Amino acid sequence: MSESRQIDAVIVGAGFAGMFMLHRLRSAGLDVQVIEAGDGVGGTWYWNRYPGARCDVESMEYSYQFSEDLQQHWNWTERYAPQPEILAYANHVADRFDLRKNIQFETRVTAAHFNETENRWLVATDKDITLSARFCVMATGCLSSTNLPKFDGLDTFKGEWYHTGLWPHKGVDFTNKRVGIVGTGSSAIQSIPQLAKQAGHLTVFQRTANFSIPAHNRQLEADFVVEVKADYPAFRAANNLEGTCFGSRTEVNDQSVFDASEAELQQHFESKWQIGGFGFLSAFNDLLATREGNEFAAEFVRQKIRKTVKDPVTAELLCPNQVIGCKRICVDIDYFETYNRDNVALVNVKDHPVERVTERGLMINGEEYAFDCLVFATGFDAMTGSLARMDIRGRDGLALKDKWAAGPRTYLGLGSAGFPNLFTISGPQSPSVLTNMICSIEQHVNWVTDCILSMNERGLTTIEADPKAEDAWVDHVNEIAGETLYPSCNSWYLGANVPGKPRVFMPYVGGLPVYAEKCNVVAQNNYAGFVLG
Ligand SMILES: Cc1cc2nc3c(=O)[nH]c(=O)nc-3n(C[C@H](O)[C@H](O)[C@H](O)COP(=O)(O)OP(=O)(O)OC[C@H]3O[C@@H](n4cnc5c(N)ncnc54)[C@H](O)[C@@H]3O)c2cc1C
Repeated sequence: MSESRQIDAVIVGAGFAGMFMLHRLRSAGLDVQVIEAGDGVGGTWYWNRYPGARCDVESMEYSYQFSEDLQQHWNWTERYAPQPEILAYANHVADRFDLRKNIQFETRVTAAHFNETENRWLVATDKDITLSARFCVMATGCLSSTNLPKFDGLDTFKGEWYHTGLWPHKGVDFTNKRVGIVGTGSSAIQSIPQLAKQAGHLTVFQRTANFSIPAHNRQLEADFVVEVKADYPAFRAANNLEGTCFGSRTEVNDQSVFDASEAELQQHFESKWQIGGFGFLSAFNDLLATREGNEFAAEFVRQKIRKTVKDPVTAELLCPNQVIGCKRICVDIDYFETYNRDNVALVNVKDHPVERVTERGLMINGEEYAFDCLVFATGFDAMTGSLARMDIRGRDGLALKDKWAAGPRTYLGLGSAGFPNLFTISGPQSPSVLTNMICSIEQHVNWVTDCILSMNERGLTTIEADPKAEDAWVDHVNEIAGETLYPSCNSWYLGANVPGKPRVFMPYVGGLPVYAEKCNVVAQNNYAGFVLG
């Protein structure tokens, strides 16, 4: 193995987080190296190339705001950008800011160990590259470790199989093929209508029905783009008011659902349904507060499903029975309509899960379903998966995955006690996946950059979460999540999709503005809650 190269900071991952982190630290004069497993930038949008993959935050919102020139220059074409356009945007950013020269592609970080004598992180990779860095920034993504349940017999399957999160770059031709898709989460809901158009026959295996709101996707209106670009900062600020950093068309109706007449219920839900997207839950101001109130919204969507899907048995199977919004709401293009096609069938696997994969297909409840291709839309080991897959060790050789065995423990989602100078970008216990993530990424990257520069100015060597501050933050994150309906259903927010993962609600539900203010106050108070050395 070659001798470790000495640098100021190593960044793991070249998605939107790693790219911006590189830009900020390098602009501040630091010697920085990014390590990325893929052979290009873009992270999520590099890996998830399945048919129908697109943003569910509107494209005018899902972009960086750190450069006014960049946001003026770039032109989105559709209300919800498709994956190839978002990937093109990531590549444009990499070119525009000359990022590639500091990114080592096709290299995976396998281990990061803190050397307490030198106060440096020693980073090992699957190539002949090792690094020694003062700071280590994990920009490894919340949804970047695919989750493939252990299906017995998968290696015996004679056809082709794919995971939506690791889609082949050259695409897949499903023409006239018998295709089976396992899962009905967001990736499945986006891809099923596209697969159905191509495949000879498509069978969807559903464990849990999910709520989905129509995207009403369309070419972006030219006058809307002009209006936004005339004062982009004001548009961003307005989006952030609701705490999620998305929502140019999601103005909240400031009325309790319990105060609405039957006519008002229909009117407000219908108008939000017609606008489409996440904003549906802004039809009233308390839809995530109580189960009773939430049920009005849930039942409205179920009625829409029943009206759309012609076969009543299929329609009923597609009607979710959990709280609407406790899982990330899906945003679709013709998802429910697709079940009216002759070449699409829905199989309920809630009571009879996939027993095993056979040479020909799937065995379920004693019946074999034969396919040419299988698609696993089984999601991700969210928020902690990519961190757990590396051997990260802090003081006294403590492994992060051991420390987090019962769930993540961080202070502000930025650092964890015992792991000095290690930062996570949009990681667990920060608002991350409950927001427009590019906003959360920018807030974290700016905070971490300011922190590192402040330490350098003052000649400080280490920063590390104080265990007491960390305990208080973990309690706070759990407490406020417990006051909402979020923990009420089995979602990936809770790790419930991965067998054996501790059931802990991982994102911070307090909203990005509140959270950012807390981070600012900590910085202004000499990084209170962190131990400086
Ligand atoms: C299908 C899909 C749709 C989404 N849609 C939206 C949306 O509409 N709005 C929204 O806000 N968010 C959305 N998200 C969330 C999305 O992940 C974030 O918006 C954002 O792209 C995350 O950027 P990131 O840089 O933090 O992580 P990622 O984009 O996941 O990048 C992390 C990178 O780290 C690399 N990496 C991980 N581990 C290692 C290692 N050990 N060594 C080297 N490299 C490593 C990975 O290869 C990856 O390239 C979506 C996610 C998915 C999967």
